Amino acid sequence: MALTKRNKIAVANIVGISMIILALIPIIIVTVNARQTHVKQSSPSFYVIPLGTTGGLDENNLSSYLLTSVNNNNNPSSAYIVLDGGTIRHGIEIAIQQNSLPADTDKETFIREQIKAYLISHGHLDHNSGFILNTPNDKSGKFIIGLNETINIIRQSYFNNQAWADFGSTGLKTYDYQILDPLSTTSVPIANTDFNVRIFRLCHTCPYLSSAFLISRRYQPSASVLYLGDTGPDDVEKIIQPDNTTYSPRYLSQLWKEMAPLVIADQLKAIFIEVSFPNERPDHLLFGHLTPNWLLKELNVLRSYYSMKNVKIIVTHIKPEKGAREKIIEQLSNGDASYFNFIFPQQGQAIWL
Ligand SMILES: [Zn+2]
Ligand SMILES: [Zn+2]
Repeated sequence: MALTKRNKIAVANIVGISMIILALIPIIIVTVNARQTHVKQSSPSFYVIPLGTTGGLDENNLSSYLLTSVNNNNNPSSAYIVLDGGTIRHGIEIAIQQNSLPADTDKETFIREQIKAYLISHGHLDHNSGFILNTPNDKSGKFIIGLNETINIIRQSYFNNQAWADFGSTGLKTYDYQILDPLSTTSVPIANTDFNVRIFRLCHTCPYLSSAFLISRRYQPSASVLYLGDTGPDDVEKIIQPDNTTYSPRYLSQLWKEMAPLVIADQLKAIFIEVSFPNERPDHLLFGHLTPNWLLKELNVLRSYYSMKNVKIIVTHIKPEKGAREKIIEQLSNGDASYFNFIFPQQGQAIWL
């Protein structure tokens, strides 16, 4: 277990250099915070169930997060949205086993009745496959929400009556499309939920677009979470254009600028952001993804506006290569990492925010 390993490092340090315990406080804080992942806070605003946490290969555990609000009785509400749809059904099975959903939950009924919308960050299969395979049994009247570019991929590459039947508004009409405008500065309601959403563009191998969703509670707008789909670092995401000029959209720095007021006002509860590879991965092989060093560099931009101590950083999309998870957890426990509160989600294990 990675946390145990980090714990051991902390303990070894305390034993070895007990005279400078003060220097170890950041490490201890990171460890304690990581262990509190599944502990209910005093008055949580959101309840998250990771249905899938890895960035590819393992079809039983691909990017997907159930999100709902927490009601006045401190219980999760029954209306969930899904942030990316890599793994759905198997993730719900694991969530029931982990007591994150009631033991008598029927997964068919849950998918039909309690999932109200699918928010898809981009068109890649590891963010869509579970959702698409479960469409034939789904109930109509739901929305697929995303950028115009993402919705076009779903329509043209999946719901095209060749790869899969057309379950969209031009075919069987199980789903409607809710296209969000990344240039709009206001959030819009997600039907049948108490959430509002705003979308931002991300670069995932420039100029291919991915996106981030800012989800806020409609009747408690001071509580928000930010979910990022796959993204590369601003300094890597650029292309040389035909006229030899460099195009570098720097969508992350724009996003951090937009998030700064929420962090300052203590309204942003969490950021879901990817780290696909350990630091050893060279920049030219990132393919639109982050490493721990690049994540810290990006988060430091946001930290330059305000302290990040109250924002949980939920690390998503770790590629399931041997030892990668342990390495990434270790690489996010050194240096600047002490300024951030990292959570490494596990499939089916609920997180209160
Ligand atoms: Zn992915
Ligand atoms: Zn991707």
